[in-house]
Amino acid sequence: MANFVAGTHGRPGFRKRGKHEGFRIIAVKATDIRRLSRNVGEVRIPKAGWIRFRWSRPVPDGVKSFRVTRDRAGRWFIAFAAIPQPIAAPRTGEVAGVDRGVTVSAALSTGELLIVPALRDSEKARLLRLVRKLARAMRRSKRRCAVKAAIARLKARETDRRKDWVEKTSTQLAQRFDVIGVENLKIRNMTRSARGTKDAPGKNVRQKAGLNRAVLAAGWGGLVTLLEHKAPGRVVKVDPAFTSRRCSACGIVDRRARESQAVFRCRSCGFTGNADVNATRNIRDIAAGHAVNARGGDRDAGPVNREPRLVPPLA
Ligand SMILES: [Zn+2]
Repeated sequence: MANFVAGTHGRPGFRKRGKHEGFRIIAVKATDIRRLSRNVGEVRIPKAGWIRFRWSRPVPDGVKSFRVTRDRAGRWFIAFAAIPQPIAAPRTGEVAGVDRGVTVSAALSTGELLIVPALRDSEKARLLRLVRKLARAMRRSKRRCAVKAAIARLKARETDRRKDWVEKTSTQLAQRFDVIGVENLKIRNMTRSARGTKDAPGKNVRQKAGLNRAVLAAGWGGLVTLLEHKAPGRVVKVDPAFTSRRCSACGIVDRRARESQAVFRCRSCGFTGNADVNATRNIRDIAAGHAVNARGGDRDAGPVNREPRLVPPLA
């Protein structure tokens, strides 16, 4: 409830079978975990005994607790709790602006456009077919269970792709740039509409709606959260006012410069470019100004990682 009031989480609801299944084991001893081979490990779980798991990455030293979870696709996971070291700043003085795009998932001030991988068209079509099938399946029937499991597997594939993208992108950003400017989410709404305005209607409005929007929103939110963990103290949250209307070349704020969803054309200096990239350049410039202030004008010090913020465990 406290998280809900703080605005970071949704409204708490009742538990449901098959959803967020899992438990946490604390006070783990080193003798409770053992490695059987290169990719197989074993862990002692109270009341269950020795349970094997795939040793997919090194188990951190001195681990005190772990979580066992089961996702809706029926996959079991084990996660050993450890706070990872933040990624060191490259100390090149480079500042990046990152923004949620209207036409892409995220744009960089370097001109790169990033797209959160979603389900392919064929997978989306299959998902739709399965949802219809589910609606026709009789309650409590075997077929209904099978269809539900198939839907869960498809959705899990989508989630996996998004999480993988978020991890890789946030790591790359933290490695490449000293300071990363993002827009402050609390000021603008979570999901920007693809509809556009009356004068400049957006394209592909139908495709943007629904499924895609949720993926984009989750991808973006996760990217900012992970960036703050991986580059603590190096993420600057920028007030997004005017960032989409200001010309990043001459600084003029002109509402009509936004020629369409994708194109920004400055009427005073003639600068033309991708509208999303133009916004990220503005964010970058504001972030660079803040970063200098945050350093107290000491230009040699450079931005550094601060102590990582302690994140409370999920379970
Ligand atoms: Zn201009």
